Amino acid sequence: MHIIGRRHFLAAAGLSLLTARPGFANVGARTLLFDNIHTGEKLKVDYWAEGRYLPDALASINHVLRDFWSGEVYPIAPELLDLLSTLRGRLETSQPVSVISGYRSPGTNAMLRGEREHSGVATKSLHMKGMAVDIRIAGRSLQAVHAAALAQKGGGVGYYPSSDFVHVDVGRVRSW
Ligand SMILES: [Zn+2]
Repeated sequence: MHIIGRRHFLAAAGLSLLTARPGFANVGARTLLFDNIHTGEKLKVDYWAEGRYLPDALASINHVLRDFWSGEVYPIAPELLDLLSTLRGRLETSQPVSVISGYRSPGTNAMLRGEREHSGVATKSLHMKGMAVDIRIAGRSLQAVHAAALAQKGGGVGYYPSSDFVHVDVGRVRSW
């Protein structure tokens, strides 16, 4: 739905493309696809190009990863986006990242902690800092996503097979 940045990148790279090797156009752009399971929203976006994160693209991502319970939008850490981008590459998938939970406001986090089925909700959750997301990826088993996330050593990894998601964050490397 958004291809922000792509056009600018191609325009800037236009001259170089004349002599580029095949595939050059994809060098230097980082793309992410999201599918929010709660809202049904889908997003395909180049969020990084020409050596920088693209503000409009980040805003689109912040919206899709907002606290869907309260509607609050919060900046998602670009490092988390890079982690997801690398994870998709590691899994060799063209499927979107299905978002179960992205940003969570303190109020939502407290509410979820009160519900037994969300027993994995921590007091000082990195979801409240825009540094964590709970995901699954269509066409890849939860075990495969979990193993790839662990191998990446990009932060915390939580495995929730009964809820069918893997938690990844860009806090310190740890797992549960
Ligand atoms: Zn989580």
